[in-house]
Amino acid sequence: MLSYWEKQSLLQYDMIIVGSGIVGLSTAASIKEKSPEIRVLVLERAVLPTGASTKNAGFACIGSLTEILDDLKCNAEDQVLDLVQLRYEGLNKLRVRLSDEKIRYATNGSYELIQEADKDCLKELDRMNDLLFPILKARAFTPADEKLREFGFSSEHAAHLIRNNFEGELHTGEMMRALIDHCLRLGIEIKTGCEAIIIEENRGQVQVVVQHHYLKEEISFTANKVAVCTNAFTKQFYPEMDLKPGRGQVLITEPIVDLPFKGIFHFDKGFYYFRAVENRVLFGGGRNIDIQGETTTDFRFNEKIREDLVNKLREIILPGISFKVSDWWAGIMAFGETKVPVLEKRSDRIFMGVRMGGMGVAIGSAIGEKLANMMLKV
Ligand SMILES: Cc1cc2nc3c(=O)[nH]c(=O)nc-3n(C[C@H](O)[C@H](O)[C@H](O)COP(=O)(O)OP(=O)(O)OC[C@H]3O[C@@H](n4cnc5c(N)ncnc54)[C@H](O)[C@@H]3O)c2cc1C
Repeated sequence: MLSYWEKQSLLQYDMIIVGSGIVGLSTAASIKEKSPEIRVLVLERAVLPTGASTKNAGFACIGSLTEILDDLKCNAEDQVLDLVQLRYEGLNKLRVRLSDEKIRYATNGSYELIQEADKDCLKELDRMNDLLFPILKARAFTPADEKLREFGFSSEHAAHLIRNNFEGELHTGEMMRALIDHCLRLGIEIKTGCEAIIIEENRGQVQVVVQHHYLKEEISFTANKVAVCTNAFTKQFYPEMDLKPGRGQVLITEPIVDLPFKGIFHFDKGFYYFRAVENRVLFGGGRNIDIQGETTTDFRFNEKIREDLVNKLREIILPGISFKVSDWWAGIMAFGETKVPVLEKRSDRIFMGVRMGGMGVAIGSAIGEKLANMMLKV
């Protein structure tokens, strides 16, 4: 049973954001940066953010050559370019807001490994550079085969290397730490252990109902406006929407003496990605070998994919180098029929920013900014 005082003073906000991943926190930050007088609450269901934002690989990407070529096969050119623009804008916003030093942003090189059988994509380099030039004002892709010997990848899988000059890497943990600190400095309240179970409009306000675990009763926060930033978990509120969860598994090795490469790398159209983290290798992906099994919000591991990742690490990335895996984890992404994220006004008071795919580090801050602008419009 809540007290009179609690009901009077602790449940009312101007705006509530549901979900404390990069999108939820960026939305809250953008609102507060523009209108410091607004009282903003972020509700997170778990002790820590528990989706993708604290689980990802920390690639700051605008898109690899084969990924963009692939996107162009099934999407209009304008749509593909809009996504590159969004990633570019989002990364700039993230870096300016939090600083490169705090998020440990670095540009140690970003490369795509190309097998001999796929080398036709190299013929598209100039066309793709011309296409992206109006956004980036410089050439994005350059051949980098001269690095192959130094990096030591299996030549069967890496016959060619393409460098992307607009990508970088960051420390995911430090990025989220800095974003949380930034929100706290702005005066945003973040409550964890608060799973929203109902979000509904009622008498000119929005009620967000959460379970009070200790009192074992439901309590209702109210706000003028609410943003739903629950990414892969949004179907709990909107079961009809076009959204599929996608689990991603990642490993990190113990430190490796004389690791021969630095930077971030992709192969198989971005389905696999790896990077050096200090002198360890972080390696993830492989959803494509069991798409159905990975269409889940379950954080448990898929043994088939774990085996595949270890084999590829041994055969492609570190041939002849001994390594030990020190950690595994999984995170959940959200996908739809298209790669375009969902940024929507569901009603005059309920807004939504979800379905970030594998791009949320890049686009999260831009989506947060757009969502905040929508919410602040009278
Ligand atoms: C393994 C992996 C690697 C990735 N690598 C990269 C990368 O290198 N670069 C890149 O750009 N992107 C990458 N991504 C994608 C990126 O991490 C996501 O797109 C991004 O984090 C999505 O952010 P979000 O805030 O929308 O969602 P999330 O981070 O999933 O946040 C949603 C939050 O909502 C909370 N929530 C859910 N339901 C409720 C509820 N009912 N009440 C309250 N809270 C709730 C969840 O606990 C969660 O904290 C990767 C993702 C994974 C899984």
